[in-house]
Amino acid sequence: MPDRPLVDGFRGLVVDLDGVVYRGPDPVAHAADALDAAVADGLQVMYATNNAGRPADAVVEHLAELGVHTNADHVVTSAQAGAALLAEQLDPGSTVLAIGGPGVAIALRQAGLDPVSPQDRIDDPAVAGRVVAVLQGYGTELSWSDLKEAAYAVAAGATWMATNVDLTIPTERGIAPGNGSAVQAVGNAVQREPQVAGKPHPPLYLMCAERAGGEVTSMLAIGDRLDTDIEGANAAGMQSLHVLTGVDGLVALASADEQLRPTYLGLDLRALREPYAGVEVAVSGRAGKDSVDGRDSVDGDDVVAVCGDARATVSGRGDDATLVVDGGAVVERARAAVAATWAARDDGRIGIPLPAPMLEALDALDPR
Ligand SMILES: [Mg+2]
Repeated sequence: MPDRPLVDGFRGLVVDLDGVVYRGPDPVAHAADALDAAVADGLQVMYATNNAGRPADAVVEHLAELGVHTNADHVVTSAQAGAALLAEQLDPGSTVLAIGGPGVAIALRQAGLDPVSPQDRIDDPAVAGRVVAVLQGYGTELSWSDLKEAAYAVAAGATWMATNVDLTIPTERGIAPGNGSAVQAVGNAVQREPQVAGKPHPPLYLMCAERAGGEVTSMLAIGDRLDTDIEGANAAGMQSLHVLTGVDGLVALASADEQLRPTYLGLDLRALREPYAGVEVAVSGRAGKDSVDGRDSVDGDDVVAVCGDARATVSGRGDDATLVVDGGAVVERARAAVAATWAARDDGRIGIPLPAPMLEALDALDPR
């Protein structure tokens, strides 16, 4: 079968933001053009963000500044996913304590619920008594008294929903505590676990598919982080494209356990329209799988992966195992290297952490 453009056959995309469309204040190269082209091709392009603090309108404005054109119907925040889950579980108009940035209360109101903030006289028993749930999301102005009120409400029996549980959040000045850290602080007080709406849990992805009017299997999730974007896509039953423009590079990818492995790998969003060269893998000593492309036989202790004109070979076992990659384009070499490493690991030839010579080879291949 000839290689087809990756997006062929998909109804829509579910695109992560930081590390895919922008990195901090800067646009990611080629992202805006690729996303506009996807819309022009008739794809439903949805943006899915774990950041609950910003309302969808603010995300739309930010994207417009970067040259990416969309509207609020195509942006789904973890606050919206969390509010929608609560709306399924509660009576319409129920009072919910909104913890976090403005996006949290806005999402609750849009879902037909009645948000109260910790500042809304919640110390008044009459107000506190109406609170049947807590939606906890990220907010730059979050205070300790907000966390106290969340703990009191949960301890009194309120349903507890976290928008997401990312322990850290990248900021312009460095890595800061994310919503998951604040959720853990409340958890320490109440000795309970919340429900979670954001990635890597499926609800955010499921809501994107629903809004796009398609089945989960007709959407392609795109992300830069394995333990949120890709794990979430796998949990939701969605295919995924990992791009090398953000957090996780080839070492993380090659070291990934099965639930963290993406369906596809690209350098950046230009991968969407390019014909996708798949990978063929052969493991020595395995019946029926000792050749690649019907031409190269695999000998000795080798695992070989071929992608386009690139060929990656893992030789040996244990700490001395090596990875050699030649030929092909950068992306073909990356796909072949990752596939060969996964196959060698799944066959029990190597463990985690990966052998040092392989880590060095993977680092050298990483285009980031
Ligand atoms: Mg990201």
